[in-house]
Amino acid sequence: MIIDLAGKTAFVTGSTRGIGLAIAKALYGAGAKVGVVGRDVERARSVAASLGDRAAGVACDVAKADQVDAAVAAAEAVLGPIDILVNNAGLTRDNILLRLTDADWDTVLDANLKGAFHTIRSTIKGMMKRRSGRIINIGSIVGLTGNKGQANYAASKAGLIGLTKSVAKEYASRNILVNCIAPGFIETEMTDALPTEARATLLEEIALGRLGRPEDVAGTVLFLASDLAAYITGQVLVVDGGMVI
Ligand code: NDP
Repeated sequence: MIIDLAGKTAFVTGSTRGIGLAIAKALYGAGAKVGVVGRDVERARSVAASLGDRAAGVACDVAKADQVDAAVAAAEAVLGPIDILVNNAGLTRDNILLRLTDADWDTVLDANLKGAFHTIRSTIKGMMKRRSGRIINIGSIVGLTGNKGQANYAASKAGLIGLTKSVAKEYASRNILVNCIAPGFIETEMTDALPTEARATLLEEIALGRLGRPEDVAGTVLFLASDLAAYITGQVLVVDGGMVI
């Protein structure tokens, strides 16, 4: 079966670069219309323009409910009702717990976890009406394992798993499938900051012997958005090259 998403509309948060951009490209390549979302409208529009005429760029800070509602409305006005929601926007404010400030905690939880709540609440009514929808949350392996220096980030990603499972149960009867992808170490701007030594140590832990690429995550999103995954909901798919087995 070839993955064909023609006629479907996707809304991908944090798709101006990194993993989100690879996801937007993959969905667009499969024929979907794609809403490209970031905090900077010009950047979102230019990325959308680079994809093609089935894409539109909209801006919002996912932590702000009113901005999310406005961005969803703007994307739907151009592309039609959202069938596939990908919650990919995310950020880090790493530090050991004793040095984490309230602002570090809130910034990460508000974007990574509350942001997904906002986008789901804003799009799910339409999916319910149409009795069809896919929601794919981009978590992280550290949401399952925890990580030193990332208590806020790991908590946000673990929270996404609880959100995924609860929404999967609540809306399964409406044929809305909700899953979470937990990537391992993927090469993007987020991970560029890692020192060379830490990078080498990490590499030793990865069974497949290489870091992940944004396309590795995008392929999994494509699968979960497609008819091939019609019987999968409430699950966490780990995409980490065998880092945690
Ligand atoms: P990048 O930092 O490269 O990109 C993050 C994207 O999110 C950007 O498009 C940014 O857009 C957007 N973004 C950040 N905060 C907000 C916000 N508050 N509102 C709207 N958009 C926002 O990250 P990655 O591509 O590396 O990560 C993508 C996702 O994958 C994240 O959720 C991350 O936690 C997760 N992940 C990444 C891993 C990795 O190894 N890279 C591993 C496991 C999970 P802009 O700046 O234009 O607003």
